Amino acid sequence: MNIGIDIGGTKTSIGLVDQTGAIILEHVHPTCAEKPADFVEMIVDWTKELCQTAHVNFNEVQSVGAGVPGTVDFATGHVVFCPNIGWFDVPMGKLFASAFGRPVLVSQDSRNAALGELLFGAGKGYSDFMCITIGTGIGCGIVIGGRVFHGGMNTAGELGHLPIVRDGVDCNCGNKGCLESYASGNAIFERAFALKPNAFTGRPHKCETVFELAYQGDPDMLTVIKQSVDDLAFGLAGAVAILSPQAILISGGVSEHRELVIQPLEERIYHYGYYSWKHAKKLKVLPAKLEKSAPMVGAAFLESQL
Ligand SMILES: [Zn+2]
Repeated sequence: MNIGIDIGGTKTSIGLVDQTGAIILEHVHPTCAEKPADFVEMIVDWTKELCQTAHVNFNEVQSVGAGVPGTVDFATGHVVFCPNIGWFDVPMGKLFASAFGRPVLVSQDSRNAALGELLFGAGKGYSDFMCITIGTGIGCGIVIGGRVFHGGMNTAGELGHLPIVRDGVDCNCGNKGCLESYASGNAIFERAFALKPNAFTGRPHKCETVFELAYQGDPDMLTVIKQSVDDLAFGLAGAVAILSPQAILISGGVSEHRELVIQPLEERIYHYGYYSWKHAKKLKVLPAKLEKSAPMVGAAFLESQL
């Protein structure tokens, strides 16, 4: 039995996962990130509580791993930059190890999602793929040669901040023209709202509303989705040119929209592709399988990456 801890911007999930990747029990708690050392103590208490509820002896747990939404040095568990929860230079690996009394591996959540998909999800059978999560922003975990790729600076897969438009739209990161400012769930909503604010009167101001209106036949919403998918394809074609993956897995709410997102995305990536891989037609764009649990499940198996 393994334990995966996924620290998100607002919620932290802790799960007991067996060796087949099945979640035995998962508890979700609020993320209280102001004081990392105190938060780690809370996580230890929650984890022990989880084990008790599931009648699992914590000392018999094989491995404990964690994920955070930011840049981490996987070798040490040192969190360099985690803007969503305001962490800069936080030694999470050390804090976890002293609080749990055992080593705890820490990695970036989107890489853990890719690992979960590699071991138990849509990435099974592929040695080289990218796992893209489209939500508030755009996350990406890269698997090369059957292993999660961190890069020499631990920043591999920051696809959301790939510049696709010179001097383009302002991004939350402080730069301009980043991919996620055009193609994230938030960006899809922002673009639709800017184009047709009246369409959102009395409706939730979120990406899902854009899709609902599109299914009702609103041509403007269909245009916005088409533009965002095209922008995403443009960015991904660049990543494919560099990495030559066999598959791109799409996770997050928008991945449910096969006809509006998954299929046109594959077509548009090929449209921007280079002859050598475009004509081989080997690249597949697929919905991910583990969905929201992927980062937690992947965290539980970080030991496989040592
Ligand atoms: Zn950015």
